[in-house]
Amino acid sequence: MSNKQTALLGLLEIPAMLIQNERVAYANPAALNLFGGHIVDQDVRLAIRIPKAVALLTSGEGGQATVKGLSVPGSVWSLNCNPLEGNSKLVTLLDISVQASVAKAHADFVANASHELRTPLAAIIGYVETLENPKAGEDAATRERFLSIIRKEALRMEALVEDLMSLSRIEANKHEAPNEPVELVALAGGAAGELRSKGDVNVNTNSSEINVTGDRSQIAQVLRNLIENGLKYGKPGGPVDVTIEAVQTGWVCVSVRDYGDGIPPEHLPRLTERFYRVDTSRSRQAGGTGLGLSIVKHIVERHRGRFDISSRPGEGTTATIMLPVDDPKSGR
Ligand code: ADP
Repeated sequence: MSNKQTALLGLLEIPAMLIQNERVAYANPAALNLFGGHIVDQDVRLAIRIPKAVALLTSGEGGQATVKGLSVPGSVWSLNCNPLEGNSKLVTLLDISVQASVAKAHADFVANASHELRTPLAAIIGYVETLENPKAGEDAATRERFLSIIRKEALRMEALVEDLMSLSRIEANKHEAPNEPVELVALAGGAAGELRSKGDVNVNTNSSEINVTGDRSQIAQVLRNLIENGLKYGKPGGPVDVTIEAVQTGWVCVSVRDYGDGIPPEHLPRLTERFYRVDTSRSRQAGGTGLGLSIVKHIVERHRGRFDISSRPGEGTTATIMLPVDDPKSGR
């Protein structure tokens, strides 16, 4: 390879090497950075010790291979090998770790969602088949009990499908800034009113009106999800205290506090992961989907706000969202 050609490879930001007779004849700065300066002139088997990469580079043919752990453990690289004249090869490497982790997260999400849907579906099919059996179907009390289980499982599926659709809608418009005028005190009053049939919900505020620019239905969903969690995991019947305060820095702070068992600290960082639950059977029993806080996090991010949960086991939990207010003076 001419000096001009190696000079060109030297300009590439991705690692590139020239292999001649199975030895590293040239490595550009990015490749030296990746493998170390010692690789120049080394046998390719010693320079790159990953069997899958070595197999391709010594095969006599060109091609592509995906190799793991070339730089740091868990990293994923696409290795491309192009045969040139005179038993030499041009090898380039592309770090595809980010794409690989996005693809894995997507596959895990689909697998989890399918599993979550399959569980109630299996119960529904099982109970319907039992009811089809003339003996079980004849007894009114048994029929009643089975029908109520079928109804509960079907509602669970419905809640899950609704939350999945919410997540995909939020995902679809996450780059569009929300632009509706939203008055938070009235919105929180409305959300609390809707949920009072499930327990005691109080709304406190230091202002009669606090305006933000946002997506009204999404902010209402955030409030509903947090209040519902307070009712589900707090003291049975409540209270759940919602506090809305315009703070001097130009932010409004909405906190939702309950007086339940709280959350052990090791779980706090993971609560907004999709399908993460502290106690799966308790969540299922309460009709939870495991998606509520993930939805909250995404909506708050779209509004350029902040979301935090603090909790003391035995004393209860406080979920707090901070949103920028339209006019910092309006709330004081
Ligand atoms: P779910 O539908 O299961 O309630 P969420 O995403 O809303 O899902 O919450 C995730 C998990 O966080 C819940 O399953 C529960 O274990 C825990 N959690 C959420 N809010 C509270 C709370 N106020 N008190 C105690 N645990 C909570």
